[in-house]
Amino acid sequence: MLPGPPQDLRDRMTDAPTVAALFDAAVAVRAAAYAPYSRFRVGAALATPKGAIHAGCNVENAAYPVGTCAEAGAISALVAAGGRRIAAILVLGDGPALCTPCGACRQRLREFAADDAEVLVAGPEGVRARFTLGELLPASFGPANLGAQP
Ligand SMILES: [Zn+2]
Repeated sequence: MLPGPPQDLRDRMTDAPTVAALFDAAVAVRAAAYAPYSRFRVGAALATPKGAIHAGCNVENAAYPVGTCAEAGAISALVAAGGRRIAAILVLGDGPALCTPCGACRQRLREFAADDAEVLVAGPEGVRARFTLGELLPASFGPANLGAQP
């Protein structure tokens, strides 16, 4: 069982139907992942504040550093659809360890998400942990540092 968050945070947590929709989208997109080298397939699905969902999978490359993360694909789909805000994201990967967003993806998310955006970490069986982006990327550098209004 996951430890329960404080009530004020619980009130802002992603509702169960949205979590279910994010999980289903991540499962579906993960099946399309291109991971011939690591065989570590990842699916990510994000929700906008209006409830739209965009998904992406990891895409590896024979020149390893050129490969892209699932979160990057989901963000690209968001932006391509005209979206600019992320309320929550679910990242799904297999294995015993939590498949949390890598450091670069935490910064990618920060461009479109506030500190209180929820980051759900899932395995094939379901959600394993819930974080806020601020927990995963504290004291972050974001659009406001350059005078932009997020
Ligand atoms: Zn990443």
